[in-house]
Amino acid sequence: MISIQQLGAMDLRKEKSPYTQYHKDLKTNTSREDLPSYFHIPYVHNGYREIHKPWSYYVGSVFRANLESLNVWTHVAGFALVLSRLWQTVYERDFADPHLGPLFASFVSFLLMFAASSAAHLFSHKSITTNCVLFMADISTIGLYGFGTILNHYHYSVPLTLQGTILHQYAVPFGVFVSAVVCLSGGAAKVVYSNLQSKIRVVLMAASIGGLYYFSNIPILYRLIYEEWTDVHWYHAKQYFYFHCTAFFFCSRIPERFFPGRFDIIGNSHQLFHVAMVLCTDRHLDGVLADVDNIDQSAHTYPGYEAWAGPLLLLVILIDAVIMFLFYRLHFHYLLPNSDKKKDS
Ligand SMILES: [Zn+2]
Repeated sequence: MISIQQLGAMDLRKEKSPYTQYHKDLKTNTSREDLPSYFHIPYVHNGYREIHKPWSYYVGSVFRANLESLNVWTHVAGFALVLSRLWQTVYERDFADPHLGPLFASFVSFLLMFAASSAAHLFSHKSITTNCVLFMADISTIGLYGFGTILNHYHYSVPLTLQGTILHQYAVPFGVFVSAVVCLSGGAAKVVYSNLQSKIRVVLMAASIGGLYYFSNIPILYRLIYEEWTDVHWYHAKQYFYFHCTAFFFCSRIPERFFPGRFDIIGNSHQLFHVAMVLCTDRHLDGVLADVDNIDQSAHTYPGYEAWAGPLLLLVILIDAVIMFLFYRLHFHYLLPNSDKKKDS
């Protein structure tokens, strides 16, 4: 027979078991007042997760409603979409064709961007250091993604009039440079101008990513202005439209700006930004794959870097890694108060 004292002791053990604590943690969202200002997202009041919890807490948290759940799932969906399109491309085309090198390198850049974004949102509340490092990686892969679009646009989508010009010849080396600039601006945005309300931060991000995007799209804009539109032009135009949706939601913080606290969990601008990014990528691939099929090999001039697309992508990753490491060193002095250094790192 079990005595009342033994039952009480069993209850206490149950209360303290890691399993029970884990499930208790999963149920709790917290408000912005309970977190350091580094984590505060403008106009989002609730749905934050607690900081300094075990990694498993953040993995489990994507299966319940909080402000990051949809941010993670939207880019997991983007990753799955790009993977399925890569599978289809490999199945339908000759993988050994050297002219497809830039296309496959761009697929890698898109997959890295969606993976880095999902990981950054998944562990965003782990600590200031984790948040800083993962979002620097997230922003640097946006630059990498832009480099992937440059490879495609200047290899397969460039109109005959622009082929062989200085722009065409030097687009890819310049793409390496502007992609690194995006990584630099991301480091500055996470370490130096870390307040999400900062106007300098928004301008820095918008100018670097916008510059990369518009440079990438010069051949597309030229075709949309000067050529007669076909289905392919519509794909490129839709890509153009969805990119501007991403810029709009990223910069405006609409709709939560007008209804603070109302869109904490679902429907806020960052989630809409993510969805527009997935649609933009899908239409980009529609347009570029159609251009790959329509290229007249006899008339087309290639800039001659097709065999270098993969190594150049690796070079951008290497440059980004160095930039991120320098900002990581800087964040200990710039971002973390002395007392928090040990605890947070
Ligand atoms: Zn995001």
